[in-house]
Amino acid sequence: MKKLADFLIAIFYTRRCRYCRKVIDIRERICPDCKKDIPRIEGPVCYNCGFSQKECVCKKKSQHYMRICAPYYYSGAAKRAVKKLKYSDDIDISYILAEDMATAYKEHYSEMDFDYCTFVPSHKKEQRKRGFNQAQLLAQHLSKELGIPCKELLIKTALTTPQHTLNESMRSGNLLGAMQVKDRHLEKIRGARILLCDDVKTTGSTLNECAKTLMICGAAEVDCITYCIAKKDNDKTKNSEG
Ligand SMILES: [Zn+2]
Ligand SMILES: [Zn+2]
Repeated sequence: MKKLADFLIAIFYTRRCRYCRKVIDIRERICPDCKKDIPRIEGPVCYNCGFSQKECVCKKKSQHYMRICAPYYYSGAAKRAVKKLKYSDDIDISYILAEDMATAYKEHYSEMDFDYCTFVPSHKKEQRKRGFNQAQLLAQHLSKELGIPCKELLIKTALTTPQHTLNESMRSGNLLGAMQVKDRHLEKIRGARILLCDDVKTTGSTLNECAKTLMICGAAEVDCITYCIAKKDNDKTKNSEG
């Protein structure tokens, strides 16, 4: 009887690895390759850079957002998941990524009281090319999971050189003035505490530029959450853009 049940489950239900989406044994959640390398960011965390405190090298460099947290570093299984989201049509994986971000939120931001959740915008030309903005998908799922209203507060008005082609010092200059708050949301932002989402933090220039734009328009506080955080240089690949 049990064999028959297993057989029927196998026919009607395919289990996929939650990181790389490979088809796996029905009794597993993660494929053997991903299981070997889940780059969890272990607490306590440095909220200035999002790294585990024992790996932090940020020297508390100041920025426009107050805190950042993420469940993973950008490598191994988490890197495979981001690639899957950005470069395949399998956008269902965004639910899984957001689930892990919600867990990180509950761990690090549970006492926070955000008015809105928003996301790093992409230029309309970039979005047309990809068909979606992955940061928006993550923010929308997270918003439902956490009960924080999701608003598209920012627009990217300039088509900038892709961040991954530039070195760290050029990255913030590249984005200067590229973000704007949508006119109809200006009132909402005044005095608001905002949760800003993205898929990957690389140098933090993109998140910083977004946070700066929101703070200039009167936000009380901006805190960031991403799915993963790249460790400097060794993870600078064509897939990391922030
Ligand atoms: Zn896998
Ligand atoms: Zn740090």
